[in-house]
Amino acid sequence: MKLIALLSIVAISASGATVNKDCPMSGNPIKDGITYTISVCCNKCETKALKNLKETLKRVKDVTKCPFSNRKGIKQITIGFCCKSCLSDAKKQN
Ligand SMILES: [Zn+2]
Ligand SMILES: [Zn+2]
Repeated sequence: MKLIALLSIVAISASGATVNKDCPMSGNPIKDGITYTISVCCNKCETKALKNLKETLKRVKDVTKCPFSNRKGIKQITIGFCCKSCLSDAKKQN
């Protein structure tokens, strides 16, 4: 069991992996390949973004800019969704 937990942590930190396991729109488990990548300017904003992905998505106007500071985003956050309709709902809020 310990090994499995460790492997999933590694998977999360690998680049291109999603930061979440559950869809921020529906709460259902996410599916491979349905992702949306946004960016933040610093670790502080990253923590803020991860705390509430749904609220963060509402703030995103430009994926190259930090939704909190409006500065250039240098850290990527890839968010997974359960289906295409949740993904388009998330984008529609922009
Ligand atoms: Zn920041
Ligand atoms: Zn969905």
